[in-house]
Amino acid sequence: MAYDIIIRGGNVFDGSGAAPEVVDVAIADGRIVAMGRVEGDARRSVDATGLAVTPGFIDIHSHSDYTLLIDPRAVSSIAQGVTTEVIGNCGFGCAPITDTRLAPNAIYGFDGSVPLTWRGVGEYFEKLQSARPAVNVLTLVPNGQLRLATAGMVDREASAWELERMRTLLREGLAEGAVGYSTGLEYPSEIGSGRTELVALARETGLAGGFYATHTRNRAAGAPEAVEEAVRTARDAEVRLQVSHLMPRSGDAECERCVEVVESARSQGQDIAFDMHTRLYGTTMLSTLLPPWSLEEGIAGLRHNLSNTTARARIKSFSSLIGSLKDWDKVRLLDIPGRPDISRLTLGEIGRQRGRDPHDCALDILFDEADTLQRPMVLLHAYSEASQKRAFSHPLCMPASDATTLAPDGPLGESVFHGAYTWASWFWRAMVRDWKLLRPEQAVNRLTRLPASILGLTDRGVLKVGAYADISVFDAEQFGERGTMFEPNQLAHGMRHVIVNGMAAMQDGVRTDMRAGTVLRRRGPSIHI
Ligand SMILES: [Zn+2]
Repeated sequence: MAYDIIIRGGNVFDGSGAAPEVVDVAIADGRIVAMGRVEGDARRSVDATGLAVTPGFIDIHSHSDYTLLIDPRAVSSIAQGVTTEVIGNCGFGCAPITDTRLAPNAIYGFDGSVPLTWRGVGEYFEKLQSARPAVNVLTLVPNGQLRLATAGMVDREASAWELERMRTLLREGLAEGAVGYSTGLEYPSEIGSGRTELVALARETGLAGGFYATHTRNRAAGAPEAVEEAVRTARDAEVRLQVSHLMPRSGDAECERCVEVVESARSQGQDIAFDMHTRLYGTTMLSTLLPPWSLEEGIAGLRHNLSNTTARARIKSFSSLIGSLKDWDKVRLLDIPGRPDISRLTLGEIGRQRGRDPHDCALDILFDEADTLQRPMVLLHAYSEASQKRAFSHPLCMPASDATTLAPDGPLGESVFHGAYTWASWFWRAMVRDWKLLRPEQAVNRLTRLPASILGLTDRGVLKVGAYADISVFDAEQFGERGTMFEPNQLAHGMRHVIVNGMAAMQDGVRTDMRAGTVLRRRGPSIHI
């Protein structure tokens, strides 16, 4: 038989956590068709001697919903061997949409360059597929968009009528192929989400066979209680639970308590797992300082509110995600184009320079940047290496980007989202090589089979005959990140070949023009894709 590709002589990790074996992997028509000692010819033969051959990595917590429409090449992901991304996380995402004016409040990286012409998940999938992404994509239905599409930008619970509409939109999204439902309970559009709403929507998700992913409340104070709330919600709704970026920003002791909450739920039989990004800091938008009411009248209204003494005082009294850190020296601005005077400084530093309350300095910046409110991003210095080690050593933890996929050239060349270029590569370098906390086969499992099992994927995240040929081939001694805190847009190194649906997205360390990813739709309640 003539194959499309044969990968010869590599150390093949099948994704299960088993030790590697030196075997050949043959690919035809997008699938793995033979493994072992493979005879026969191929249109292309890859010599993988001394290299690791693994299932393509799965990013279970991505925010590439919109950036893949701007630049579908997913360069930062392919360079790390990532072949599948799960979007729609943290209540953010691109569908469903009923009000195109409000929807950008819950879309990462929205810049207007791709108009919001779709409405439901199915239409969004068509738009995304027509962009021909380089990676496979699955989505969750984001609670932020459900609320914006029904109740609008409000900080109260949804009314019974609104909840019914949210439920209908969610049900449609799940029927059109979404794999679950996500919330981002710290964000302005979802702060008002209450127990009735969350249980009802999570239940709808469980009935459809999907899972509930939640960015919990109060990730800077009271985080363990918020994880307990998520556990209760999922238990009452009878749905599988994925706690997003589990470790909170409130120190190692609270991190440990969050892990204990997960372990306790697990020991009582609940189906629960969690993910974690790989940064020592969180990133979020400076605009999360603003309460929903201050945005109700659009940009002009916001500027008016920020100029009015009474309204400004009310804005300052809003308990925001950033404010909850209670330390402006832990809040660092990333580069804002045209603002070298404040870029890379902490708000504490800016306040001292100006002799002004750091909170007011932040609001001044939002006033100046009101036309591109989603643009000013901040780092929240909030995590320790100890909690990183604790999280990533845990058998229920999957590493994830918690970022948008980017590219160092093209329309996203100037965009910054920490973790985009450095998550899988960091995980391998730190956990396998430097800290030696995971054996290579364990690390591969966390990047492949474990997230695939959460997603209900049986023919990806695994190397076996019949599976889709999503494959990464890399130098296990070299694979690592190059991006840093202030120079994050640098591609990982050590990746040699990346195959997506049987097509080479990277060959001999060089990215190709092939974009062979596909939108993966959940079909039916059996979670079969
Ligand atoms: Zn999140």
